[in-house]
Amino acid sequence: MSHVFPRHSRKELPVVSRGEGPFLYDTSGKAYFDGSGGAAVSCLGHSDPAVLTAIKAQVDAVAFAHTGFFTSEPAERLADKLIENAPGNLDRVYLVSGGSEATESALKLARQYVFEKGETKRRHVIARRQSYHGNTLGALATGGNLWRREPFSPLLMETHHISPCYAYRGQKPDETSFDYGQRVAQELEDKILELGPQDVLAFVVEPVVGATSGAVPPVEGYFKRVREICDKYGVLLILDEVMCGMGRTGSLFAYEKEGISPDICAVAKGLGAGYQPIGAMLCTSEIYDVIKQGSGFFQHGHTYNGHPTAAAAALAVAKRLIDDGVAASVAPMGAKLVDELKTVFGHHPNIGDVRGRGLFLGLEIVKNRETKEPFETELAIPARLKSAAFEAGLICYPMGGTIDGKLGAHVLLAPPFIMETSH
Ligand code: PLP
Repeated sequence: MSHVFPRHSRKELPVVSRGEGPFLYDTSGKAYFDGSGGAAVSCLGHSDPAVLTAIKAQVDAVAFAHTGFFTSEPAERLADKLIENAPGNLDRVYLVSGGSEATESALKLARQYVFEKGETKRRHVIARRQSYHGNTLGALATGGNLWRREPFSPLLMETHHISPCYAYRGQKPDETSFDYGQRVAQELEDKILELGPQDVLAFVVEPVVGATSGAVPPVEGYFKRVREICDKYGVLLILDEVMCGMGRTGSLFAYEKEGISPDICAVAKGLGAGYQPIGAMLCTSEIYDVIKQGSGFFQHGHTYNGHPTAAAAALAVAKRLIDDGVAASVAPMGAKLVDELKTVFGHHPNIGDVRGRGLFLGLEIVKNRETKEPFETELAIPARLKSAAFEAGLICYPMGGTIDGKLGAHVLLAPPFIMETSH
């Protein structure tokens, strides 16, 4: 009998034995095409030789040294690489072990920054109903997924949720997509005014929404307006690129396409591409300098911050993505895949929308394509799809949930950037 405490306690799972390129294999030899990189993690596929070599070399040199005593070469070089390739004002990189830790750290950095600046009343966090920011208590409180929050609600800090930018569901027939984006962005200003501008700390948002609704990009102009509103009231803009970052949408950072720059940005998943657990929080020098010149100490920290082996893996991943041009294939391959999905599913009676950016794609599942009416059992349909696809040798990421009181179900696809047309 197994002593592992699994995610699903009533499911028998196959045992994974190896990975190669875009495929995973179980111990029976069955192959699975990793069409979602687990949950948008494995952007380089499996067994990338350059990443494996970098990890082995780092382990041979020194696997771990605590950041209370040392910095390390791979951590320094990874931070440089990220900042060199991050457009806008981001200047410092705080390395953590995963996505939840990155968003949790972002919230705490935001709060410590205003605290040290003397703006001690700033405490309200605003986020969107269509969002997932992680599973630690602060990150969970920030996310808008009711199903994930429900059992823990007495433990969660108060957060304020506004509408998402979800044109398929929210745009009115007589409205342009631009006007729709301005209308939903206006909810941010309204909420700030309602809470009192001096009391609002941050707005946390995924540039392209992942797990809660399957690769939903914003409409044009939405983020520009959001940035303006945040600037007007001194509210920090925290972008959660844990899922959509690191080249997944066709640019290294998803925010590049929006023509804005955040105050803080969280990345993970594709950062280590699954070769090591790692996440990062990037912030502006303005934020960093307030802490440097104030207490001189970010009052946060985990044992595995800046883990040298994880940093070496992420540095090797970044080199593959940027220097070897792997990330450059995302936009053209994504365009081909979306065309193919539209050909196959574009008229399917139960697929309401085919959408996404780069190799971050989503299919919205509906009961009725014309009316967009969802199935009543929003979690059962994705679960059945996941099992059927897995049985057939395809790993994809179907999910369901309730957004703005409406049910929704979707399949998220996030295949490795090394996929080829034949796959
Ligand atoms: N933020 C977003 C947008 C995510 O999609 C996720 C995970 O799916 C997280 C945060 C949490 O990341 P992790 O599961 O690595 O803790």
